[in-house]
Amino acid sequence: MQADRRRLLKAGFLALSLGAAQLARGANLLAVRIWPAPDYSRVTLESDTALKTTQTFIASPPRLAIDIEGMGLNAALRELVGKVQASDPNIAGIRVGQFNANTVRLVIDLKRPIAPQVFTLPPVAAYAHRLVLDLYPSEAIDPLEQLIQERVMAKAPAAPHGLPSTNAVVNDPLGELIARQTLPGAAPAPSTRRQDLLPPPAVSMDRPDHPARPQLAPGQTDRLIVIALDPGHGGEDPGAIGPGGTREKDVVLKIAKMLRERINASSVGGSPMRAFLTRDADFFVPLHVRVQKARRVQADLFVSIHADAFYSPRPQGASVFALSEGAASSKDAQWIAQKENKADLIGGINLGSQDAQVQRALLDMSTAAQIRDSLQLGGSLLREIGSVGKLHKPRVERAGFAVLKAPDIPSVLVETAFISNPEEEEKLRSDAYQQQLTDALMRGIVQYFSRNPPLARNRSL
Ligand SMILES: [Zn+2]
Repeated sequence: MQADRRRLLKAGFLALSLGAAQLARGANLLAVRIWPAPDYSRVTLESDTALKTTQTFIASPPRLAIDIEGMGLNAALRELVGKVQASDPNIAGIRVGQFNANTVRLVIDLKRPIAPQVFTLPPVAAYAHRLVLDLYPSEAIDPLEQLIQERVMAKAPAAPHGLPSTNAVVNDPLGELIARQTLPGAAPAPSTRRQDLLPPPAVSMDRPDHPARPQLAPGQTDRLIVIALDPGHGGEDPGAIGPGGTREKDVVLKIAKMLRERINASSVGGSPMRAFLTRDADFFVPLHVRVQKARRVQADLFVSIHADAFYSPRPQGASVFALSEGAASSKDAQWIAQKENKADLIGGINLGSQDAQVQRALLDMSTAAQIRDSLQLGGSLLREIGSVGKLHKPRVERAGFAVLKAPDIPSVLVETAFISNPEEEEKLRSDAYQQQLTDALMRGIVQYFSRNPPLARNRSL
């Protein structure tokens, strides 16, 4: 089987059958969806029974053909054709046709070389059976390059008006970022500033294949403080939905983008700050990928932003969570962690992909130091959020959130409010409250750094 597959791959195409067990005659398509994003574009076909498909990938010009057995051309499939957006980074177009009496053929024309992942998902939450076509660029997007690009874009329009932040000009954080990029996983650059003249970290974030530290040119000495912001859910996973129809995934993305603006205009102890979003569009990012991305950009902090529903409409107020490797600090905390950890099932990940398994296992090595710092960060955020709104619990709660498992980054999950509470849903929608909340989170982050200078935190790891 493996040899066969290799032979087919060599021939330039890959054919995979999803197996007779999933055969469905006369399956009905219930919905079709496309989620375009630079990371990957996803096409979802939702049906009342599992679809039997055969896929063929043709490298030149790049296109993916999917044959669906037991189905005729129908309105939903035709609708899919019109759903492709011109701005889709990966999909150029979709064609559908009746291949033979019993089979419909879908051809996805691609804009660039793609490594497709085709898999099915059993019914979960509000979804019936799903056939998922994930179209990953063969050359994966590097989060660090993305951060650099954002930096370049941010600097470009500001220059003619003389308005770039002074730190950006003086410290050239871009140079430092590029240095990090050349040595992925390398420890933060050495600095000549007084507060940074500390012994190197006892345990650095070096990886075995990149043991060296970057050598920076004179002048490229300042360290850029990177804050990973993680808007929860996205794409197939709407998160919680308020009684008025507000979707958690939309509200948290808006707040994360507002906070990004604040962070990018700020500095700590003379070092410029930079926000990195684990997603800045409406697509699903698996939980372990969120953590991976934050580690790739060597984030100093990881803040996951949510606005969940509770099992009853009454609870209100914000909560902040840190990781617990053992029991949760309360039943509520455990309930929320279990709910959040289901995101991968609803958002849909390819469990058959070996990479996903390996990467998830790698994250089971959190340290006591990470949790201690996360509790401090959580405390700072909670104090500030408490000054603009109600708190659900007066202290940082703890539970086994998958997304908080970066062993080397203080990580917290903020439930900004309960979207299931009609009043809180209203607040979450209001610009004024979004602004207050963003300001509070910003103050909390700054406060944390004033007590825990970035290198002191690294040193303790
Ligand atoms: Zn959530």
